[in-house]
Amino acid sequence: MRRKLIAGNWKMNMDRASAVALAGALVKRAAEVSAVDLLVCPPSTYLVPVGEALGNSGIALGAQNMYHEANGAFTGELSAAMLTDVGCKYVILGHSERRHILGETDADVNKKTKAALAAGLVPIVCVGELLAEREAGQTAAIIKRQFDGSLAGISADLIEKTVIAYEPVWAIGTGKVATPQQAEDVHADLRRLLTERYNERSAGVVRILYGGSVKASNAGDLLGQPNIDGALVGGASLKADEFLGIAAAGVWR
Ligand code: PEP
Repeated sequence: MRRKLIAGNWKMNMDRASAVALAGALVKRAAEVSAVDLLVCPPSTYLVPVGEALGNSGIALGAQNMYHEANGAFTGELSAAMLTDVGCKYVILGHSERRHILGETDADVNKKTKAALAAGLVPIVCVGELLAEREAGQTAAIIKRQFDGSLAGISADLIEKTVIAYEPVWAIGTGKVATPQQAEDVHADLRRLLTERYNERSAGVVRILYGGSVKASNAGDLLGQPNIDGALVGGASLKADEFLGIAAAGVWR
């Protein structure tokens, strides 16, 4: 049985005070949704104060990105060890904004995924097609290419410590949500890929999150799909009520 994971990607939003206040608001009510795993990924400048606000609430801390090298002359970058050092358990990798705005490739994501796993961080590896790719009937091929490229060379042991997020690019921050069936079809494809590339046992362990305009009002139907094991939430994760509403929708699914 895979526990649902509800992850908030705060992106480049908030200041220190509002980040700490949001974490505090989540901590107060975390017990209401203890049947699911909660994770927040604030901007890296606020990892420490948000981590302090989360305390021992059980809400995990994660980063939105990292670099694959351990240390050295890489101005502006952060290593996996730096993230674990400030309490991170997870790191989002290959988010579509990093792929499409900042030019990250599958090879970059692969190096980062390996470095994260080696440091004991759980990578949340994002894949997802553009609208034009979906309309051209290329969704399955794009997902397969991103899956194979981003996860190349990762052992079955380590894949079980990895989370995958399916985030159709056309649904991120647009208010357009994939239908539960559209999302489930891709999640089932990803689960099949896991079985083919690894084995049934590992495929059964890996959590596959859906991301793209998830809100409390649409989360129940998405999280009710057999292969949707949680949500990666952008905009709606900035409001405690909405984020906890999504988590509550996952409790009974
Ligand atoms: C995201 O940032 O991963 C995301 C899915 O954003 P939103 O929920 O705002 O669409």
